[in-house]
Amino acid sequence: MKLATRLCLFFLTALALVLAGFSAALYLLARAHLERQAAERLEAALDTLAAAVEVEEDALEWEPRERRLTLGQDAAEEQPRWEVLDGAEKVLGRSPNLGASALPSGSSWLSGRRQLRSERWSERADLPEPVRARRYEELVLTAAVSRAPAAAALRSLALALTGLSGVVWLTAAILGCALSRRALAPLNQMAQAARATSAADAEPRLPVSATGDELEDLGHAFNDLLSRLRQSFERQRRFTGDASHQLRTPLTAMLGQVEVALRRDRPPEEYRKLLTRVHVQAGHLHRIVEALLFLARADAEATLASLEVIDLAEWVPSQLARWSDHARAADLRLDLADGAFLVHAQPLLLAQLLDNLLDNALKYSPAGTPVTVALTGVALSVEDAGNGIAPDDLSHLFEPFYRSASARRLGLGGVGLGLATARRIAAAFGGTLTVESAPGRGSRFTLRLRRGEGLTSAAPEVQ
Ligand code: ADP
Repeated sequence: MKLATRLCLFFLTALALVLAGFSAALYLLARAHLERQAAERLEAALDTLAAAVEVEEDALEWEPRERRLTLGQDAAEEQPRWEVLDGAEKVLGRSPNLGASALPSGSSWLSGRRQLRSERWSERADLPEPVRARRYEELVLTAAVSRAPAAAALRSLALALTGLSGVVWLTAAILGCALSRRALAPLNQMAQAARATSAADAEPRLPVSATGDELEDLGHAFNDLLSRLRQSFERQRRFTGDASHQLRTPLTAMLGQVEVALRRDRPPEEYRKLLTRVHVQAGHLHRIVEALLFLARADAEATLASLEVIDLAEWVPSQLARWSDHARAADLRLDLADGAFLVHAQPLLLAQLLDNLLDNALKYSPAGTPVTVALTGVALSVEDAGNGIAPDDLSHLFEPFYRSASARRLGLGGVGLGLATARRIAAAFGGTLTVESAPGRGSRFTLRLRRGEGLTSAAPEVQ
């Protein structure tokens, strides 16, 4: 079922319930009011009859002709009917509109009676017969008023309420459904556009109407998501292409050399040389595959679980000692503040990160210029006085396989995975790796790590 239809049904059901409740309440109120009016008419009729009774000191007298009683003359339905009885239920008088029929009863009539009694009744044998004949100890006044006019009014009211509710409901059904279909039309357009979009589309986008509501919000949010996904797909595609390219070059070289060697028998010396070259290229290949595997794994696991607390003040000098055989070992400087610098890290990965930064600093700076490793708080930086990095390159530096144009021009060896790996390692430690550089003056890469338990250093953390 369509959302517009579901909304419409929900709204119409609610409206039907409200209209039914409202009509029922109105009907019941009107019925109670009409019933009260009938009761008041009955009371008024009994009052009029009571007023026609002559109350003597020792008897009640019934002589309506003297009182000119006009009640019940008219045969119209809304006129009351009445009878006056004596204590022995003998009829003494009746309303002219009763004719020969008895006082009406049943559900369409509201009837009532009132009993009058003389408290000091005396027979009075001394009075003449005509006077004695209209004297009574007890009189029973009965009256009935018709409910038919009220019933007719109620029937008309019920009819009007049903008709009016029907008209209101139908109008709301037509207008409401058209409105909700119109309000949700952008959703249909988005669904159609999404169905018509293929994975090959360069810039997939959903149409967004400027409705200023949640649908517009949803459209923009979805389009943002689409462009983020597209960028991510693009990165993946580039990554796969670059990776294949980087793996293919050493593999092709290795295959070529092996094929040439196999063409004819050679002396053992030549085989040894060939195997050494193949070994170097296989080692290169191995490092690329290891870096790729790490990047793929680090993508899946945001942070590493098995982190240790390392004191950088001890760890950094021991790592630098491993570079003592490097051709530029004399250019390496260590700038270490006093104290212990405890951080959360994993020693082997941290060593790989520092090696990548040192390797780059030595590679991209001329021999004889200093490369300084500085430790301040939980920030470890590697600074060189080399070529520096162009501002355009800075934003891409940590992307896998990215190499600056100047690095490619200078023909310095490298694949472009060192910094990407270093940043992923930093992220896996819950830290950051940033770069500042001035072209022609040098670069500084700074690693900031999470402080380890029980930091005792007095040196402040560098922000
Ligand atoms: P690679 O060094 O193998 O090319 P990296 O990922 O380590 O790959 O570095 C990516 C790019 O960043 C390098 O190609 C180089 O252009 C630039 N770069 C890295 N470190 C430095 C540095 N210390 N000085 C100048 N450029 C650098």
